[in-house]
Amino acid sequence: MDFSFSEKEELLRKSIAEFAKREIAPLVDKMEAEGGFAPELIPKLGEMGILGIITPPEYGGNGMGHVAKTIAVEEISKVCPGVGLTLEGHYVCTYLIQTFGSEDQKKKYLPRLTSGETLGSLAVTEPTGGSDVAGIQTMARREGDHYVITGRKCFISNSHVATIHATLARTGEGPKDFAVFIVENSFPGFSLGRKENKMGLRGATTGEIILDNCQVPIENLVGKEGDGVKQVLATINQAARPSMAAVAVGICYASLEEAARFARERVLYGKPISNLQAIQFLLADIYAQAEAARLLTYRAASLLDQGQPADIEATMAKYVACEAAFQCARWAADIHGGYSVIKEYPIERLFRDAWVTIPSSGTAQVAKVVLGRYAAKNF
Ligand SMILES: Cc1cc2nc3c(=O)[nH]c(=O)nc-3n(C[C@H](O)[C@H](O)[C@H](O)COP(=O)(O)OP(=O)(O)OC[C@H]3O[C@@H](n4cnc5c(N)ncnc54)[C@H](O)[C@@H]3O)c2cc1C
Repeated sequence: MDFSFSEKEELLRKSIAEFAKREIAPLVDKMEAEGGFAPELIPKLGEMGILGIITPPEYGGNGMGHVAKTIAVEEISKVCPGVGLTLEGHYVCTYLIQTFGSEDQKKKYLPRLTSGETLGSLAVTEPTGGSDVAGIQTMARREGDHYVITGRKCFISNSHVATIHATLARTGEGPKDFAVFIVENSFPGFSLGRKENKMGLRGATTGEIILDNCQVPIENLVGKEGDGVKQVLATINQAARPSMAAVAVGICYASLEEAARFARERVLYGKPISNLQAIQFLLADIYAQAEAARLLTYRAASLLDQGQPADIEATMAKYVACEAAFQCARWAADIHGGYSVIKEYPIERLFRDAWVTIPSSGTAQVAKVVLGRYAAKNF
């Protein structure tokens, strides 16, 4: 058991942190005001190797893996958790294609997704409910050399900034009749619906995708009919939840930094409030929660890099880290007193961002259903 990062990983952390300060920090106010991701970052994220960090080199990535991806998402989320969510939405698309796609699909789509030409999305959720994946209504029917897909996806990360969407649809009425299709914006029948005006993680674009008799070539079916739900659940466990956990860890540490800085600078009774034990106790709670969240998150990523099962660990990391992010931001806001509600103070944004991590990639209750079932059986 070794909890230290390698020299290469430390270097990666440093270079991503510098990149985030240089390229992302200046765009945070604009993304907050506009409520969406700044697409001018796409080529820069590609050039830095961030978009292809979990994708093998033969498909245009650098194959650094899940721990490296966690480092990248954590460091970027310290500066702008919304961009962290954008990456999560992108990685679920690349992960699904590289894990379940055909050789032709990998060669066609992954180089575009990793180079900085474009972003990807995973379109599963519909107005009928995100937790009930099998409750979706989007229907794909085969017509000659095409599938014709009709339905409406909502809450999709990168909806309006991605051009390649791994999309779950029904292929029949049976319990296993689902499949994933790679849908491009340019396909006839594809359009975009509303763009959500979210309370937090505003540096990510979230919105609707509308498929109205959308013509999708049969070669864009991923795997085979009947595999869809299995592919999506594996992607949620192995890419979505670990990435959201990393976003949350970034929020925990950003909250800790903001809280500690404010406590050192705010003088009451002639001394910095960091001298007050009540404030030190709040800092202790933030620090302990942040470390616990970080350890669980890197354990899940490390298991994935070793090719070991990590569904339970990733679900636990996502659940604990997102709850920790909300707690840490709340305690950090307490330390800021009245200044916590003023927009010039980053904690105001981090507090809103933290809440939005909780339903993203599956709610806390759904995570607890998974963990509770496992615990009831195995302990
Ligand atoms: C910022 C953001 C980004 C997102 N990005 C994407 C994306 O890229 N792609 C995508 O497909 N989706 C995305 N989603 C959707 C997200 O996955 C869903 O919001 C989430 O799964 C919950 O679905 P829902 O909102 O429809 O709530 P519902 O499923 O309607 O749940 C309502 C309530 O019921 C509870 N509940 C549901 N089932 C159970 C159960 N079995 N036991 C106990 N309680 C239960 C839930 O916990 C919740 O409290 C995103 C959501 C957000 C907020």
